[in-house]
Amino acid sequence: MLEREIPTVYSTRMSGLKQKLHCPAGAGTEEFMEMPPGALVESIIFILRDDPGIDDDDATTPPSKGSRAQGKAPLFEIEDIPLPEPGPTDLLVRLSATGICGTDLALASGELGPACRILGHEGIGRVVKRGSSLTESDVPLGQRVGISWVRDTCRSCAMCLRDGGETRCVAQIHSGRRVDGTFAEFTVVPFRYMIRLPEGPSDEELAPIMCGGVTAYKVLKICGAPPGQWIVISGAGGGLGALGIQYGRAMGYRVLAIDSGSQKREYCLGLQAEAYLDVSKENDISAAVKRLTGGQGASAVLVTAGSAQAYQDALDMLAPFGTLVCVGIPPPSQSVHFHPLALIDRGFRIVGSMVGSRGDIQEAVDFVRRREVIHRVHLTTLDRIMEIANPHASTNQVRQSPFHSAAVYVFVR
Ligand SMILES: [Zn+2]
Ligand SMILES: [Zn+2]
Repeated sequence: MLEREIPTVYSTRMSGLKQKLHCPAGAGTEEFMEMPPGALVESIIFILRDDPGIDDDDATTPPSKGSRAQGKAPLFEIEDIPLPEPGPTDLLVRLSATGICGTDLALASGELGPACRILGHEGIGRVVKRGSSLTESDVPLGQRVGISWVRDTCRSCAMCLRDGGETRCVAQIHSGRRVDGTFAEFTVVPFRYMIRLPEGPSDEELAPIMCGGVTAYKVLKICGAPPGQWIVISGAGGGLGALGIQYGRAMGYRVLAIDSGSQKREYCLGLQAEAYLDVSKENDISAAVKRLTGGQGASAVLVTAGSAQAYQDALDMLAPFGTLVCVGIPPPSQSVHFHPLALIDRGFRIVGSMVGSRGDIQEAVDFVRRREVIHRVHLTTLDRIMEIANPHASTNQVRQSPFHSAAVYVFVR
């Protein structure tokens, strides 16, 4: 469908260029540079709309930011926009694949406040144009790059001044929140926050690593468990948890997956989790973890589920000196209770993790390049994504769809 649509759209104003733009990734960048400055071209994007019943006549009216009511069904449409122009120190990137993350859907539903019209933060593409201040020695045309949740940081706040603190920058700019995201054919990134990617893995293998993959990797990197020890992944059958199983195995851990239902059991064990516990069948999930781990508990429990109960249970699963890593976000109304003696007597640590730095992304990508982590993805096209995310499906329905629970959507040009 997408492949049929692109020539139709481009034939309106980009005749003569459309064949070049359909060159294999990395090729055609020189031809792209021949375009006259200020040329009116088009991109295909998803548009988020407030009102599913909006008239076609209003299709060019941007939705007013921040006016989305919670629970309103997100609507995505393809729209033509002017080709973005990179500033003097920016790069224009032609995207070839992107993933869809749960955060995109939360943004689309208005749960996270104002959002951009173009969402998406798991993009893979190539540099096709440099800003006027940049040269070939800075970055060659055709350089493969990734686009993630963090698009730029201030480099001067207390977070940025700490090693690895850039993902907590107090002034960070998020993809789809402050700047347009990756549900588009082209996007602009600042050269100073460019994420270089190696050649080798396919676009669709790399896309999920830009958010879910690097998040899972970083959680394991900081969990403090010695290699060869048990770790628990709570919510292991979700997109993030599934990547966690693979990274955990690749990093030498014994992975105990926790989720609900027999479908998730098959999925998690198929990803080489060593054991699986079904929360819907265990009366005391923490006791079951202790039993499976020889009475000790797990050296680390990674909670990817957005549930306070999952966190509450997790504290009782820890081995002495174990670490609870927080990454799933429960609703604000839910809280977790613990007594400080648990930390004082047993030496527990509780830490939080948030996506990963550019260095973390490159480390996470290297597992894919070595074929140690290969995430199963469902390739789909623009029209399929719209069918899933459009008004007929509420955000919750999208989240509960079998595709979303087990894999990441990626669409390619
Ligand atoms: Zn994400
Ligand atoms: Zn900062």
